[in-house]
Amino acid sequence: MKKGLMIVMSAPSGCGKGAMLEKILKEGNFFYSVSATTRAPRQGEVDGVNYRFMSREQFEGLIEKDEMLEYAEFCGNYYGTPRDAVVSALENGKDAILEIEVQGAAKIREKCPDAVFVFILPPSLSTLRHRLEKRGTETEEVINRRIAQAGKEIPEAAKYDYIIVNDDLDAAVEDFLAVVRAAKNEAGRNAGLIDEILKN
Ligand code: 5GP
Repeated sequence: MKKGLMIVMSAPSGCGKGAMLEKILKEGNFFYSVSATTRAPRQGEVDGVNYRFMSREQFEGLIEKDEMLEYAEFCGNYYGTPRDAVVSALENGKDAILEIEVQGAAKIREKCPDAVFVFILPPSLSTLRHRLEKRGTETEEVINRRIAQAGKEIPEAAKYDYIIVNDDLDAAVEDFLAVVRAAKNEAGRNAGLIDEILKN
């Protein structure tokens, strides 16, 4: 069976990544990697669905056992990708989506050069602020911190393979699916296929 494609997706908070993922996961043959984290669950988040919530001790135990494909510290908490679930999804031909921040993405770039890297951008920093304010779940101070964080993360987009501006949700989802389709057909990712065709 042909192995699945690993897709790394990064975006500052407020870029509509959650809404995009909801639509993307209804299409294609995707596996969504549920990350482990030491941050507390937000209202409505379910253990095992949004994240695997755990203590720092548990998380460090997984690092020691080398069970994390990558991990990073972000805003004072650990976040990481459990390796086994991703590896077996890829072996079963599923395309695995890792929704991770930029330090983790850089580690995946070293370990898994076959992955495709996609960065989701807001149309502008002022739109991002407007969206966060409209959501109304955060205080002014938290919003300011998130905008400052976004200002630091966005320049990293230049290192990714593709950037998608999420201005219109459906168009952004369509672009994401097009990127995945194109990446799966890249010559470099299908090295064995030409020989196989010649043999048969
Ligand atoms: P949040 O706390 O808002 O859910 O996530 C904070 C940041 O952590 C987001 O940028 C998200 O993409 C990132 N993140 C979530 N899971 C992982 C992971 O497994 N590894 C890394 N490196 N970052 C992650």
